[in-house]
Amino acid sequence: MPKAVIAGAGVAGSVAGIALRKAGWEVDVYEPYQRSAGLSQGAFLTVAVNGLDALRAVEADHVVRRLGFPTGNIRFLTGSGKDLGRMAIGPRLADGTVTRTVKRSDLYAALYDLAVERGVVFRHGARLLDSQRGSPRVQARFSDGTTANGDVLIGADGLHSEVRRRIDPAAPGPRYTGLRNVGARTRTDRLDVSAEATDGDYRMIWGRRCFFGYTVSPDGEIWWFANPHSGTEPTADQLLADGQAALRDRLIEQLRGDRGPAADIVAGTDGPILHSNQYDLPAVPQWHRNGMVIIGDAAHAVSPSTGQGVSLACEDAVTLALCLRDEINVDAALTRYAKVRRDRVDRVTAWGAKMGANKSVGPVGRVIRDLVLPHILARGSTPEAMRKQAWLFDHHIDWAYGA
Ligand SMILES: Cc1cc2nc3c(=O)[nH]c(=O)nc-3n(C[C@H](O)[C@H](O)[C@H](O)COP(=O)(O)OP(=O)(O)OC[C@H]3O[C@@H](n4cnc5c(N)ncnc54)[C@H](O)[C@@H]3O)c2cc1C
Repeated sequence: MPKAVIAGAGVAGSVAGIALRKAGWEVDVYEPYQRSAGLSQGAFLTVAVNGLDALRAVEADHVVRRLGFPTGNIRFLTGSGKDLGRMAIGPRLADGTVTRTVKRSDLYAALYDLAVERGVVFRHGARLLDSQRGSPRVQARFSDGTTANGDVLIGADGLHSEVRRRIDPAAPGPRYTGLRNVGARTRTDRLDVSAEATDGDYRMIWGRRCFFGYTVSPDGEIWWFANPHSGTEPTADQLLADGQAALRDRLIEQLRGDRGPAADIVAGTDGPILHSNQYDLPAVPQWHRNGMVIIGDAAHAVSPSTGQGVSLACEDAVTLALCLRDEINVDAALTRYAKVRRDRVDRVTAWGAKMGANKSVGPVGRVIRDLVLPHILARGSTPEAMRKQAWLFDHHIDWAYGA
């Protein structure tokens, strides 16, 4: 049986494991942490219908359907209280499926458990340090002293990927965007926002100093995130040292001048507030070499504003498994994988970069945005506009047909 060695037990690694098991491969996944480092990148996330489609190809979509709740639309507001309009986050499928919002920890745990159930072996405490190609297998060396041999080494090791560097030492690395990702969940009964946000919509507020978004879960929790500016890039130690109280106070101070419930939601949050730096990743020219390949955030980090990172990771993972199943050898499979995925990934990334840029415009940009956006949004959910966005959400993977 051919064998895959995967670095990284996040969404991309777990789904690649599930898909490769279905394709008849033996799979070992190596992960530095007891769980996944990807868990600390936010409290919750959205899985779009194209991500659900990719999971359906490997009988894994039920885990997302069971978790979280439907969030089909976004309503945009300004810090001065102006309602800019409402936009659908993708289409409603024939069976009623729309984008779902799930707790990040639930999603990661459910995909991990399913992968174990399907025969994927996980090894924790093992960070990939080094790799080389013998003939014809790839050998990987890990921080716990183990080595592993496989027909392919898959880098599902996230934004700061080591496999990316092994493939191309000159590959671009992540760039700090000047924003932080901050998010948490809190209950609504202490705050009076339920009346405006119980319809499964997101409310996104372009505040004067900080972008803020929230939705209300069916059981009455407010799930919120914010993107405050933070000029210089805090180190991992500085992020750890930044106490919860200081983080909360600073955020409240940045949101206080805006209309709407943002500052009160943050003030009413007693639970842990997760925070991380926000990065983007310039286009990575080379995704594979010598039996090694990268998928998910290791290959392309789309802006969190797109709500597409997880969905693209699922598409990558399933497409790669199909290429490995159907092509004559690993090199041919990796070449095909890159060919099939490149245009789509570049298009989603470019679209996401535009959305992310809108979060941090200056005063002049704000005036233009507030004048123009209502017209764009009014047109944005018409059948005609939804047809134009079909390229993003209608992506379909047919397991029987292949990639
Ligand atoms: C705040 C925030 C909000 C977001 N919201 C959304 C959203 O709503 N919808 C959406 O679709 N996407 C969202 N994203 C993006 C999404 O989280 C990522 O695109 C997705 O999680 C990427 O999954 P991954 O498996 O590729 O990487 P990760 O989840 O980062 O997993 C990488 C794994 O590799 C491991 N690893 C690292 N180095 C090594 C090594 N050397 N050896 C072995 N293993 C290693 C790590 O420990 C980690 O477990 C958001 C991102 C952020 C930061």
